[in-house]
Amino acid sequence: MAQRERGTEAVIHTARLSHNLKQFKQLHQGPVITVVKADAYGHGLAVAVNHLHETDAFAVATMDEALAVRALSPDKRIILLEGVFNQHELSLSIQHQLDVVVHQHYQIALLNQSSATEQLDVWLKLDTGMNRLGFDPVDTEQLITQLNAAKPVRQIRLMSHFASSDDPSCPQTQTQQTSNEWLKSLGYEYSLSNTGAILNNLSDRQEWARVGIGLYGISPLPNQSGSDFGLQPVMELSAKLIATKTIAAGARVGYGGTYEAASDMKIGIVGIGYADGYPWTQHQSQVLIHGTLVPVIGRVSMDMLAINLQEVPTARTGDRVLLWGNGLPIEQVAADMRLIPYTLPCGITKRVNFHVIQ
Ligand SMILES: *Cc1c(COP(=O)(O)O)cnc(C)c1O
Repeated sequence: MAQRERGTEAVIHTARLSHNLKQFKQLHQGPVITVVKADAYGHGLAVAVNHLHETDAFAVATMDEALAVRALSPDKRIILLEGVFNQHELSLSIQHQLDVVVHQHYQIALLNQSSATEQLDVWLKLDTGMNRLGFDPVDTEQLITQLNAAKPVRQIRLMSHFASSDDPSCPQTQTQQTSNEWLKSLGYEYSLSNTGAILNNLSDRQEWARVGIGLYGISPLPNQSGSDFGLQPVMELSAKLIATKTIAAGARVGYGGTYEAASDMKIGIVGIGYADGYPWTQHQSQVLIHGTLVPVIGRVSMDMLAINLQEVPTARTGDRVLLWGNGLPIEQVAADMRLIPYTLPCGITKRVNFHVIQ
């Protein structure tokens, strides 16, 4: 008999990752930047980089992430999405040939003050209405002049970002698109679209599209799953039933006793909690066991959660419970929790065992 184990695991399907990149290369005919920040959205950086050979570039948020990608991928373009914060990071970027985003004047000053003899490519970030990172587009020409005067600057490209690419008809997206049309006319290479923009056909074949969440098979669009776009979920999260019991009508389950049994019922305790990355929320999600969707009941604990087993009377300790994956889209789980799907894979902690399969 197999030895018992807690068995909380994330299976990472590498063939699905490669498939999703192929799918985006069909949806977007220009160059694709694969975004592997935050440990490839919680899927594992090394696994992701090693299965994205078809990519045209990688993008990350931090210097540590960039250096980790460089160690795995000696030749691909790597873009630091927030750019550099100091002279040390700038010299590392030049040494390791990282592209840097430039979104603040201090970053231009760093380029001017650099004593480096080699050069790097920069992406001038323009804020077309999201009001996060980027310069006011009215200053574009002047900024380009300044960048051209900085010795370490080799090639300049332009970048902007949508606030609501999941909603192409909203006024903010329309306004940003108007700015983008102007930006495209300046004669530089550019990068505007994220996953939502590509899925909503906002990208064009000239641009360097930035694909993050979609790469992992997850759709950012409301009411549409990755599978609606031919994408496959890269992560499947599962855990095991570590206890089952029958409770009496009126009994309460979990911290705060928020769930009360309406009748005598069978419940199961699953070995996963918010310390594994299954979030605590005020809202009720579902899990899949023996092919049946059943509700989570009561509060999610740090290490465990309870489920209603009334519909699955044959469920036994040791049975596997799917938290998300095939048959239970992560987009649905996130919607049930009133969360965006991004937060779910990013929240998986190192306590979960990763199994990488083809
Ligand atoms: C994270 C990020 C992306 C990727 O967005 P997705 O919605 O995951 O495709 C693209 N661009 C920038 C600037 C980002 O920070």
